[in-house]
Amino acid sequence: MTQAEDPEVPERRPIVPGVASALSPLVRRIVANNPGPMTGPGTNTYLVGIDEIVVIDPGPDDPEHLDAIAGCGGDRIRWIACTHTHIDHFPGVAGLQERTGAEVLAFDSRDGLEIDRSLADGDVIEATEFVLRAVHTPGHASNHLCYLLEQERMLFSGDHIMDGSTVVIRPPDGDMAAYLAQLERLKAWRPRLRSIAPGHGYLIEQPIAKIDEYLDHRRDREQQVLTCVKSGTSKVPDIVAELYPDLLEELVPMAQGTVEAHLLKLKDEKRVKRNRKTWSAA
Ligand SMILES: [Zn+2]
Repeated sequence: MTQAEDPEVPERRPIVPGVASALSPLVRRIVANNPGPMTGPGTNTYLVGIDEIVVIDPGPDDPEHLDAIAGCGGDRIRWIACTHTHIDHFPGVAGLQERTGAEVLAFDSRDGLEIDRSLADGDVIEATEFVLRAVHTPGHASNHLCYLLEQERMLFSGDHIMDGSTVVIRPPDGDMAAYLAQLERLKAWRPRLRSIAPGHGYLIEQPIAKIDEYLDHRRDREQQVLTCVKSGTSKVPDIVAELYPDLLEELVPMAQGTVEAHLLKLKDEKRVKRNRKTWSAA
C-alpha cells in the first residue's frame, strides 16, 4: 500500500529545497537542491540543537544551500558532521566551515574531505542540550557513520537506510555482509530508536519495520542472485539484465555493483565461486 492509499497516514508535506522544516524539538531539516535517481528529492542536511548546533551532511557545494544552512544556524553552528564521503553528502563542508568556523567531524579524511577530528564507533559530540553518538556502519561505504540523538531516540542514518531510494552497495568499498550485519545491529537497538532521519527522503517513523523491510529485500535479492547463478547465468551484466529488466541506463553500474556485492558475500560463504568474470554454484 502506498502512502496515499493509507488513510491512517497523514499526507506528507512536499519536500521543498532550501526551506528549513522542524522535525522535532531539536531537529530541523534543509533539503539540498540536488534531486535525482540516486538522491531522491535531494540530500537531507540536518541541524541538531538550538543553542549549539551540529550540522549533519552539508551536502553538495551549493552556495544557496550553504547560505540557507548558515542562515538557519548562524554562529551557533559548532560542528559539521559527515555520514560518509560520497559526493552528494560532503562537498559543502569547506564552504560551510568558511561561513561558520565550525569543527569538522567524520570517520576519516578521504575523497577530498578534510576533517578536524575523527569519530570512531561510540564517540560522542557533547553539546549543552544533547549528546550525538557516532555509530560506525560500514556497508554502503566503509567509512559510513550514523548518528544517534539519544534525547530524541532519532537515528541519522545517512545512506545506510533511506526513504524512497535504494541503498547501493558497490565493492570494493561497499560490503554486503558488513551492511547486513549493521542493519541487524541497529534492529537490536529497538528500544533506543523512535525514528530514523535518512540522508534522502522523509523521516521514517517506524524504524524497525523499515529495517525489516531492508533485510527482507536483501535476502530476496541474494536468493535471486543465487538462483540465477545456479541456473547458469554466470556474468554480472547478464544477472543484472535478468533481475532488473526495466532499469534506467544510468543506474546499471549501481545494480552491477550491488549484484557483485551479493556474489562476494555468497563466495565468502562458499555458496558460489568465481572464475575471472564468471560465477558458478559452489
Ligand atoms: Zn547519498
